Amino acid sequence: MDILTKKVKGAEDILPADSYKWQLVEEIMREEAAKSGFKEIRTPVFEHTVLFNRSVGETTDVVQKEMYTFDTKGGESITLRPEGTAGAARAYLEHAIYNDGLPVKVFYQLTCYRYEKAQAGRQREFHQFGMETYGAADPKADAEMICAANGIFDRLGVSDIRLELNSIGCKTCRKDYTNALKEYFTAHKGELCETCLSRLDRNPMRILDCKNESCKNIAKDAPVVLDYICSDCSAHFDKVKTFLDAADVSYTVNPTIVRGLDYYTRTVFEFVTDSIGAQGTVCGGGRYDGLIEELGGQPTPALGFAMGIERLMLVMKAQGIELPEEETCDLYIAALGDEAEKKAFSLACMLRSASLAVETDIVGRGLRAQMKYANKIKAKYSVVIGDDDLKNNKVTIKNMSTHDTVETSLDEDKFLEAMTDLVVGQQEELISGLLGEDAGTFFEALKNLNG
Ligand code: ATP
Ligand code: MG
Repeated sequence: MDILTKKVKGAEDILPADSYKWQLVEEIMREEAAKSGFKEIRTPVFEHTVLFNRSVGETTDVVQKEMYTFDTKGGESITLRPEGTAGAARAYLEHAIYNDGLPVKVFYQLTCYRYEKAQAGRQREFHQFGMETYGAADPKADAEMICAANGIFDRLGVSDIRLELNSIGCKTCRKDYTNALKEYFTAHKGELCETCLSRLDRNPMRILDCKNESCKNIAKDAPVVLDYICSDCSAHFDKVKTFLDAADVSYTVNPTIVRGLDYYTRTVFEFVTDSIGAQGTVCGGGRYDGLIEELGGQPTPALGFAMGIERLMLVMKAQGIELPEEETCDLYIAALGDEAEKKAFSLACMLRSASLAVETDIVGRGLRAQMKYANKIKAKYSVVIGDDDLKNNKVTIKNMSTHDTVETSLDEDKFLEAMTDLVVGQQEELISGLLGEDAGTFFEALKNLNG
């Protein structure tokens, strides 16, 4: 196939027939985040490479193998963001957002870039939704974060997913654990891949999330961090669990979760499913109390999660969760003849500025083909304008599903009034259907509200 019509490997298009699903899912995520007081942050697609080296970590798979890094014409090293936390933390510091008062709560929806082996649930460009809290050390903040992620799965009706929880301790208690890991992996040196050999001294915890089969095999029996955490970390972990219990969110403790990025401390969690194959981690997150300081800020507790939207879509598909596609066209205006076409076009513009969704022919189709098109786009109403209609200043608006008709004049205000009545009537019918007996009370209350 010609390269001009072939997308780059690992990138995916979201086509017009599917984009409504993304819009719905993204809208639900935004709403869920807003419910807990999170506001959106939008950061650039690229950042200085050192930002990721420092925050994600020099010995992680992401930094060592997966980043899209290049030099600009000005000789700067730039990297396409592999995740959203680093950019958010950078912006938090750069704009001193902490001056607005703590905690600071933000969410993001963005594309990420990782040079990985492309397969189902693993792309080179993919989408993440994430949330971040700065300035909250309390275990309630961990529970709030986890509940927010859980709320998104609930809203979407995703059930076949479990929450796995762990604590990986703080800087202090991590030392003992790192030593234990060093000792264990040194005894298995011969079976480690080259990258992991280099991690043995610098950061043996990273060996635990190596994807190499031989390394994975050895890592299975490695010491687990939960056995090494200090009493403060242990108390924090217990409280997180208490608050999750209070919120009725179920979880299992999985002592092998360490997360793939260096900045994590204490609580780590994943939402995992078995219904989409090997790439079953849909959401990962936790606490990173050292991150802001690592980037040059004051010591600031922080935490967050990132959810892979492609993987979420895969789970929803696997579970047969249907998203309703809204029919958007209120009216199709068909026209025959030069004058009628002009009238159709001006009516369409007028109705659109009055907030109705209207289409009229833009490709020079004959009348039959125009009506066929109106059916195809599932227009709610249609109207045909011909020369006679112009002369008589009278047209018939037809309900495309019931075939009921309403006669009206072509004067702009009269036509708009007729269309508004029809659309509002249809909405009221829909609401009545949903509310049943309560519909009368609802409309009464609405009228009072509107004076
Ligand atoms: P994995 O172990 O599957 O590589 P990860 O630990 O690298 O995941 P994170 O950095 O925690 O993933 O990213 C958070 C979420 O983003 C993941 O749980 C996943 O849903 C999604 N994600 C990560 N990498 C990809 C990718 N290459 N393609 C699609 N989604 C991804
Ligand atoms: Mg990964």
